[in-house]
Amino acid sequence: MSAVHPVAPPAVRWITRTLEKAGFETWAVGGAVRDTLMGHPSGDWDLATRARPADVRRIFRRTVPIGVEHGTMGVLARDGTMYEVTTFRKDVQTDGRHAMVEFASTIDEDLARRDFTINAIAWHPLREELRDPFGGASDLGRRVLRTVGVPEERFREDYLRVLRALRFAGRFGLEVHAETWAGARALVEHLTALSPERIREELMKVLGQDPAPARSLTLYADSGALGVLYPELEALRGGPAWARTLAVVEHLPARLPYLRLAALLREVSPPAAAALLVRLRLSNALTDEVARNAAAPSLPPSAGSDAAVRRWLARHGPGRVGPVARLDLALARVVTGGNRGVDLGAGASVSTPADVVAAWRQTRAIVRARPPLTVGELAIDGRVLKELGLRPGPAFGRILDALLEWVIDDPARNEVDRLRRRALEIAERAADGEEGPAPDAADRGEGNGV
Ligand code: ATP
Ligand code: MG
Repeated sequence: MSAVHPVAPPAVRWITRTLEKAGFETWAVGGAVRDTLMGHPSGDWDLATRARPADVRRIFRRTVPIGVEHGTMGVLARDGTMYEVTTFRKDVQTDGRHAMVEFASTIDEDLARRDFTINAIAWHPLREELRDPFGGASDLGRRVLRTVGVPEERFREDYLRVLRALRFAGRFGLEVHAETWAGARALVEHLTALSPERIREELMKVLGQDPAPARSLTLYADSGALGVLYPELEALRGGPAWARTLAVVEHLPARLPYLRLAALLREVSPPAAAALLVRLRLSNALTDEVARNAAAPSLPPSAGSDAAVRRWLARHGPGRVGPVARLDLALARVVTGGNRGVDLGAGASVSTPADVVAAWRQTRAIVRARPPLTVGELAIDGRVLKELGLRPGPAFGRILDALLEWVIDDPARNEVDRLRRRALEIAERAADGEEGPAPDAADRGEGNGV
């Protein structure tokens, strides 16, 4: 096993000491033990104890009932951190979607219900003793992911473990042990039995915690989970789009998981992307945000006109600039970074990162100048049109749209007098039997009028 051993924060030792003085055996378990054994710091120290929630509430001054029915109490330590303290548990009944648990009396029972050997290691923060009945530390050392017990059985108890296997193996660069891999592959069809929320949370953990999520996403693909849960993405695998998509996702930071999700959907057709997002049951606001980012075209190049940038802003909204620029930048880095095996495809942008940064700067400068981008920001409105003697009706909307186009070409035109004159010209031309205001003719007209 590894030479590194976990070092629990003082508050974790204090909680352990307090519980054990009251007669309740207590261990640190789960992610923090695993992570510190690998030499990664961890903030999320969870404790397992023989004490019941009522005992924990009685023993500590500041507690929060986080999930009393599952045995979990939050204990607020003096360092201001809340630690989860959970009563030892064992599985009693499972249906693939959940494991029903009941309280147990030993740490060994508690470890036996955990999913993978690397997650089934306990550390005693005071005695500095490792309790590792399934060889998790040696698996970590050999970089192997293995279930506790018979893989197929453990996956059948809770299908989410299949996805957790893909996430942990990818995140920590572990090789999935052959039988564990076979068990996972054999059960991927059952993943649809899981609730959308659990499926989504797993995906968001891959996108939100892993600096290099392409490995886990590749395991999703290779195991068959991608085809079962995300057929819209599976369809990308036939061509170069999949490798390109993964590379773009990797060039975005984990602290922007929803932007990474947009990157994942960028080459999926908008209706298919929408279907996937609906299935994930993201909030309406997030669904909208991700779908817009996924569908928005690149920023206009900095070599183009300011008017082209304003037209882009009017169409997509200034809120789109940051996310789209980051997506463009990620793509440009993939293009110029010489990512091996990434075929850029015929329509791909050939912008360099410097091009994207220049376009981003120019666009931001234009946004800061606050040009009118909506009809509501024009210096005149329908009331003024009425005062001009124009007859209200659908034509008003067309006139205002034409005025906005005209102002987007040159924001200095957004003055009451100029807009009034311009509105009359447009109305006259429409009355002369033209289909609608023609922007080119209109521009020439303006030159004479002012
Ligand atoms: P991270 O928080 O970094 O995703 P973690 O290992 O802490 O990793 P959690 O989901 O926080 O994962 O769960 C804590 C521990 O609970 C795990 O280490 C594992 O021992 C156990 N566990 C969690 N979910 C399951 C599950 N579905 N089946 C079996 N054991 C589980
Ligand atoms: Mg955790």
